Amino acid sequence: MNAYRMLIDGRLVEGARTIAVIDPSTGESFADAHVADGAQLDEAVAAAARAFPDWAARSWSERSECLLEFARRLDEEADAFALLLVREQGKPWGEARYEVDATVRGIRFYAAVELKPEKRDHPTGAYEVERRPLGVVAGITPWNFPMILASNKYAPALITGNTVVLKPAPTTPLTTLELGRLAADVFPAGVFNIVADDNDMGARLTAHPDVAKVSFTGSTDTGKAVMRSAADDMKRVTLELGGNDPAIVLADADVEAAARGLAATVFLNAGQVCAAPKRLYVATEVYDDFRDRFVAATREIRLGAGDEDGVTLGPVQNRMQFDKVRGIIDEAASSGTVLTGGHVANRPGYFIEPTVIADLGDDAPLVTGEQFGPVVPLLRFDDEADAIVRANLGSYGLGASIWTRDVDRARQLARGISAGSVWINQHTAIHPDIPFGGVKQSGLGTEGGLEGVHEYTRLQVINVAA
Ligand code: NAD
Repeated sequence: MNAYRMLIDGRLVEGARTIAVIDPSTGESFADAHVADGAQLDEAVAAAARAFPDWAARSWSERSECLLEFARRLDEEADAFALLLVREQGKPWGEARYEVDATVRGIRFYAAVELKPEKRDHPTGAYEVERRPLGVVAGITPWNFPMILASNKYAPALITGNTVVLKPAPTTPLTTLELGRLAADVFPAGVFNIVADDNDMGARLTAHPDVAKVSFTGSTDTGKAVMRSAADDMKRVTLELGGNDPAIVLADADVEAAARGLAATVFLNAGQVCAAPKRLYVATEVYDDFRDRFVAATREIRLGAGDEDGVTLGPVQNRMQFDKVRGIIDEAASSGTVLTGGHVANRPGYFIEPTVIADLGDDAPLVTGEQFGPVVPLLRFDDEADAIVRANLGSYGLGASIWTRDVDRARQLARGISAGSVWINQHTAIHPDIPFGGVKQSGLGTEGGLEGVHEYTRLQVINVAA
């Protein structure tokens, strides 16, 4: 069996041991990944720390050239990466290919950034403000979008002059480890390190005294642990955490467009998207019409393995999540009305039918929690103000959407929603060149856009006596 290696200090290395990687469409292991022990993790951090001064001193254009060459090599192997992504993550081929392409585009966006020193006037004399790199950045990613989420960390970190230790989730390590094979020939030794683990090295990495910043994407509970462990030496953190996005369909919405647009985003990546619509609030005037169209659109979705022709919904990524989502569906089915779906598929692997459940109370676990799977509750509202109040319930605040023909009105309503992004007549419109981040317990800081790049820097003021 193929065993994928890690990148430490410019060399592809074996780990202390290997772990089996499961194909979620079969439930069987298909490859092994080398994983680090504590000593190897420390070696990766030490290599990144050694490489930092030289990398930080290089010009923006030198760093940019490395990133562009890395993007070119990834682009050249896009099909192979997408295929591996299908196998380890489960998503349909089209979504996997899109993820690889979006990753390449993202790296190129970051590679084009240059943060120039700024001279500012002041009554006491002019001073300069510069953005300086932080040092060693630890990037930690989850299993839903292993490629694109990682690129939103290493690319802005590297262009700004930091060095990186990247750690993927243990159930989807392979595409990230494969990046190491490309990076080994492109970046100077130690600049970009990639280690895998068996879900046991995250805490050691975030507590490491030589790590200057942790950029973490994952669950809110783990995000809190990261924040606590960063406190001792005041590491900088960017936390992209869970979400329970509301989508609000107003009475004047284009109901067909809303039903289609929401079905496409609710079930994207089998619902395992931090900023997927996870609760649908529909105005009572259009509720029945929306319900029928949304259910019809959901029934058109084809469930199957990611590499089967015509499949638009893959399996849930791992056994733990499969069991969790099944439990959520069973609980919701016992008090609500299942409009479509509700079952697991009769085949091996972690397949769950796309499921829509109506007639639940606002306190039902499917409404209050983050399902992170192919199931969504349909809720009714009588009055817009009430819809906004209900949309703001709970501790998450990642994304939200409003569906209406009156865009100006939607803009106004958006300001009353506690979410980092409010989309109008679309949802999950996330791009590397647009800032994205959560409020409340959905996260801290920003990824993407220039604002996201700034998070990998600290300000330095140089102020000469007049
Ligand atoms: P998770 O928190 O269990 O794991 C994420 C990563 O953290 C993994 O690499 C894991 O090995 C590592 N980890 C585990 N314990 C750690 C510790 N103590 N310290 C540091 N790292 C540790 O999350 P998951 O189940 O892999 O991912 C699903 C969650 O991620 C969902 O809640 C989802 O909403 C969220 N997510 C958020 C965004 C966003 O941008 N806001 C994007 C994708 C996913």
